[in-house]
Amino acid sequence: MKTIKSFGELKELLRPFKCSDPGQRTIGFVPTMGFLHQGHLELVEQSKKETDLTVVSIFVNPTQFAPGEDFDAYPRDLDRDAELLKERGVDVLFFPTMDDMYPEGYATYVEVAELGKVLCGKSRPTHFKGVTTIVLKLLNIVEPTHAYFGRKDAQQAVIIKKMVTDLNVGVTIRTIPIQRDPDGLALSSRNIYLSTEERAAALVLPRSLELLRKKIREGMLDVDELRQLFRREVDNVSLVEIDYIELVDLESLGEITVVDPDKTLVAAAVRVGKTRLIDNFILGEI
Ligand code: AMP
Repeated sequence: MKTIKSFGELKELLRPFKCSDPGQRTIGFVPTMGFLHQGHLELVEQSKKETDLTVVSIFVNPTQFAPGEDFDAYPRDLDRDAELLKERGVDVLFFPTMDDMYPEGYATYVEVAELGKVLCGKSRPTHFKGVTTIVLKLLNIVEPTHAYFGRKDAQQAVIIKKMVTDLNVGVTIRTIPIQRDPDGLALSSRNIYLSTEERAAALVLPRSLELLRKKIREGMLDVDELRQLFRREVDNVSLVEIDYIELVDLESLGEITVVDPDKTLVAAAVRVGKTRLIDNFILGEI
């Protein structure tokens, strides 16, 4: 595995790969913020299965954190991450510097209008603008044929797909299912913030979503009724506060009143102590 910091070095390394046999060789790209877990590694696995060369980036992107959020505290362990990626047979680890990504005077941002204002965008109004900006920058630098994202961040995946379509970026976006711990909690680099009590309490999030999935399967399709059911479940657990529970159209992320079993996103965010956790399930395909 080659570990690379500079754009120039990366371009140089990938150039022969891109030039020989054009159209035949594929580059898979997995953007991450590091502190890797099995969710990230499944993205790597998928990329390795589907492409000829896998590039993983690690960059904790400041523009997707609002002032007062956990940018400084966000866990980082580059050595451990590099070891894990090497073991998985990753070809290139790209970890750009802050100064290269956002040099003095940096001024350009990309925003996918309405899609970034709902769900997580309500409590994190600048978050998705930061995400789309960094992802587009990275796609322009790496120029992959395929890029891999987790459905854990379903809204992010929908937004990135829309950006890539709207801006004619020549990359195929692929998504993988949510990876969970055996007790059901979705893997997240932020789970490390949770105390033992908080972690136990946090299980109400996947449990309540699973209950909604079951109820939908049994024919409960009224959105208000489902949201109330989720709220009742979570309100029973101390330490956990609901940020939102929403059932929306999978493509437009717009409000719905009745579940469409073929294209609905059921997404929730909660706060457990100081930690904000998200989870979801999808009816349909993204
Ligand atoms: P992050 O490092 O949190 O920015 O995440 C990098 C990528 O990993 C994103 O595409 C996430 O959606 C994906 N990811 C994070 N956690 C999970 C998970 N539990 N299951 C699947 N994908 C995940």
